[in-house]
Amino acid sequence: METENVVKILKMLQNEYSEAKYYLDFRNPVDLVCATILSAQCRDEVVNATTKKIYLDFKSAKDYAEASVEELEKYTSSITFYKNKAKNIKKAMEILDSEYNGKVPESTKELIKLPGIGKKTANAIMQNAFGVVEGVIVDTHVIRISQRLHWTNEKNPEKIEKDLMTLLPKEYWKELPHFLKSLGRDVCKAPTANCKECVLSKVCPSFIS
Ligand code: SF4
Repeated sequence: METENVVKILKMLQNEYSEAKYYLDFRNPVDLVCATILSAQCRDEVVNATTKKIYLDFKSAKDYAEASVEELEKYTSSITFYKNKAKNIKKAMEILDSEYNGKVPESTKELIKLPGIGKKTANAIMQNAFGVVEGVIVDTHVIRISQRLHWTNEKNPEKIEKDLMTLLPKEYWKELPHFLKSLGRDVCKAPTANCKECVLSKVCPSFIS
């Protein structure tokens, strides 16, 4: 797709979903490490309801590091794969506490070394905790809709991210996932899209009447 048409689509999305914003609640980078670990394959509302309680009792990486996994599990039990995620939170916070003086490193390379943090969650932390945009968050909505828009033929999230970084002007890298999450929940659903109701109905190559 020509860059001109991509920008046209991005502007249409921006007009339609001007209120779209990052979806996980946090107060500081340590909170966001916890929230992003919990967010894998879990609805944002459930993560936000869970972290609301966690944040009351855990203020620093040390607080998490000193808790037992069983104690953390009491907070995370309504989350998918909660046992594994509780373990990852504890291990990640132990590393932050012992190796980074309780701070979250402002580096994608360092972040992806933490248990439970991949490229997607590292992008989310870099963008939202530090205001540094080095990539595009590729979640399930970005994968599905980028394919439907023919912005990528790839299935692997890292390859999709590379395609998007080549195709999209950088000023849209941070906002695109917010727009596509709104579009995906609204009309471009899996498995069936409601194309007649879609703001992109006249420009999308996958439009189904
Ligand atoms: S036209 Fe249909 S397939 Fe294309 S983005 Fe909209 S809902 Fe999705």
